[in-house]
Amino acid sequence: MAAHGRAILHVDMDAFYASVEERDDPALRGLPVIVGWTGARGVVAAANYVVRRFGVHSAMPMGRALALCPQAVCIAPRMAHYKAVSRQVFAVFEDYTPLIEGLSLDEAFLDVTASRALHGDEVRIARAIKAAIRARTGLTASVGVAPNKLVAKIASDLDKPDGLTVIPAAELPGRLDALPIRRLPGLGRKKGDAVERAGLRTLGELRRAPDALLWRLFGRDTRRMRDRASGIDDRPVVADREDLSISAEETFDADIADPAQMEAGLLALADRVSATLRARRLAAGCIAIKVRRADFATFTRQQQLEPPTQDSRVIGRASSDLLHRWRAEQPRARVRLLGVGASALAPATQLDLFAAGSVPQPPALDATVDAIRKRFGAAGLTRASGLPAGPRKLTR
Ligand SMILES: [Mg+2]
Repeated sequence: MAAHGRAILHVDMDAFYASVEERDDPALRGLPVIVGWTGARGVVAAANYVVRRFGVHSAMPMGRALALCPQAVCIAPRMAHYKAVSRQVFAVFEDYTPLIEGLSLDEAFLDVTASRALHGDEVRIARAIKAAIRARTGLTASVGVAPNKLVAKIASDLDKPDGLTVIPAAELPGRLDALPIRRLPGLGRKKGDAVERAGLRTLGELRRAPDALLWRLFGRDTRRMRDRASGIDDRPVVADREDLSISAEETFDADIADPAQMEAGLLALADRVSATLRARRLAAGCIAIKVRRADFATFTRQQQLEPPTQDSRVIGRASSDLLHRWRAEQPRARVRLLGVGASALAPATQLDLFAAGSVPQPPALDATVDAIRKRFGAAGLTRASGLPAGPRKLTR
């Protein structure tokens, strides 16, 4: 696939809950497995591939599933356990991009457009993610690789389980033309029936259908549906919001009144925050400090950073300016806790670093510090500016 244009992955774990149960209990392998609550109102939460051959699928009422496959093994869902496995899977994604849009515990869109400079092209990234998921969880995922979310989602479903399907921009819309219209995400069952009754069985037929026919089926959505059948989709990957800020704080053994000591403590925290930003390939558009006085009154002060940065010198300077301003208001305050937080986070990948007017290249010193920390742990290296002022004992 060409290195320009967007690169979107849709990663979908295969029969996720059922696969977790099979992994944890090898006696289940080869048996038809349904995860879901039995009982009158129970539904199928997940069906493994053996039981799917009987026509069982997720969201089906349990009664109907068991009528289709009476010998199926039914397992009550263990949601907390699946969530823990899901976190392992999403941790793999985070190694490749901060732009992760989770759709459920077992499914996510990843925008890896800017990750290519660091990790190789999107197909390599997809392979690496599949391999890492398998290594860390023992489970398989199917991945669709495409220039947008719609086509990535269609692609991931074409070769399940353990699939990797690549649909490059250059092969659109042709690659979609032969697919049954049911492959189009978001086309409900009823609407699908109506479209088939109108004689449109494939995405190609839908794409080329006359306006009048589509208008009868889709009304004002006609244009959008024709676009979708053509594989056109501009929606961005919207990163999950759990990671809104990165912060570090420290409570001192004894309250401090010495401005130099406060400054040193704050700079060490700013340093930690910027190292985390770099490790996650993020840049901060806003820096905040938190100051808790000896009497527990707590203050925050913040400042925008333009352009967003991960440079520890810039973040340290901003933090230190904020502390100076706060101290001007409260020159005699004794402080028990200091914190530094970064927010308004944006991806700062290599590609962005080289783009004009964007995030500047981190200084070589930061990269060196990060490398040493990676090797020897966070305690291995402290910047001189982060050490307490005055006579020092460098013992740890
Ligand atoms: Mg799935």
